[in-house]
Amino acid sequence: MHEASLPKHPVPESEASFDDLGLPTELRQAVAELGWTHPTPIQAAVIPAALAGRDIMGLAETGSGKTAAFALPMAARLPAGRGVRGLILSPTREITLQTKAFLDYFGAARRLRAVSLVGGLNIRHQMDALQRKPDILVATPGRLLDHLERGTVKLDRVEVLVLDEGDHMLDLGFMPQILRVLETVPPERQTMLFSATMPPPIARLSQRFLADPLRVDILPPGRAAGGITHRLYLVDIDNKRPCIHSLLNHELGPTLVFVRRRSDAEWLWKLLAKEGHPVERLHADMSQAERLRALGSFREGHHRILIATDVASRGLDIPAIEHVIHYDVPETVEDYVHRAGRTARGEATGTVSTIATWLDKEMIREIERAIGQTLPRCTTPGVEPYVERKPPKAIRRRRLR
Ligand code: AMP
Repeated sequence: MHEASLPKHPVPESEASFDDLGLPTELRQAVAELGWTHPTPIQAAVIPAALAGRDIMGLAETGSGKTAAFALPMAARLPAGRGVRGLILSPTREITLQTKAFLDYFGAARRLRAVSLVGGLNIRHQMDALQRKPDILVATPGRLLDHLERGTVKLDRVEVLVLDEGDHMLDLGFMPQILRVLETVPPERQTMLFSATMPPPIARLSQRFLADPLRVDILPPGRAAGGITHRLYLVDIDNKRPCIHSLLNHELGPTLVFVRRRSDAEWLWKLLAKEGHPVERLHADMSQAERLRALGSFREGHHRILIATDVASRGLDIPAIEHVIHYDVPETVEDYVHRAGRTARGEATGTVSTIATWLDKEMIREIERAIGQTLPRCTTPGVEPYVERKPPKAIRRRRLR
């Protein structure tokens, strides 16, 4: 059981039941133990077709439940102990590890073993893990090619291939490696391609390498009014930094991060830039020319993360933001609403994540009253959530008096 490494946040649910999708009993049980009551729309559409062996072209984004949509049928169909039969390509180390956590969990019941191959981690350890005959590989394309070239991996028995977050792999320049992998895996296989958008190279990939795919187009339904999904990450103060790292590493769309002070904007910018994040900043200590340059670079996609203070961002028209993150809880409810309004413009949808500590509880309550909903308590892999405790009864009674 590896539940702790699985993220937890609200998802859109379908009317369907996990009992009707054709999954074997032990996987239905595993799903029930996670507390999942209904499949998400992408799961309801993909799982029966994937169990029947069909190719899938899934238009869906992170948060739709797509990982389980391919991990469950893989766990159901692949045999254990007969070499690498399943391969998943993912854009980043974090998404790779998260996907592996799902496969470890669902695969456990069927004795399937997954190994992750990502850059930045010791290749010798990975070679050792490969010696132990995994059934499924989850890999970033670059590291997988390294292994192919060293002859430490063989893909000639792959039956199910998943290309996850196709558009992000494209953005990160992985298309040549993906094409190499596609030349190496057997042509007789099932292929599932997931992408949040369909730029021409992804459409071509789908036409060339998928056979009569079922196209599943899940535009995020079930979002909160106004197209915004709110999420609250309650953590200890020391965990604010790990929390933003985890969020930035798991969700790869254009992201606006709000901090309270200019000095914090500068500090966080340096920290994230040093770690290789494509990040810019916007605050009032910068000249107008510097601010315009930062904004231009964000708008054109050269930097996908922009760190801003409220004052500097007011009135700016920043298009196509998928994710607003409050690194600091806003000081007023108006600021929360204003910051949230930076995403989900017009027909679009977006996510507003707030990182908060117990010190922010009062403000959270005010925000919840103002927007008329409780902010869903969410968790992100690798970060212990702060557990809210109700005061003991005796104290509560005393307070009432
Ligand atoms: P994904 O879109 O695959 O990144 O999954 C997003 C999140 O949804 C993860 O936190 C999963 O644990 C959760 N999740 C996936 N499917 C369901 C479901 N049917 N019910 C409840 N939570 C789910």
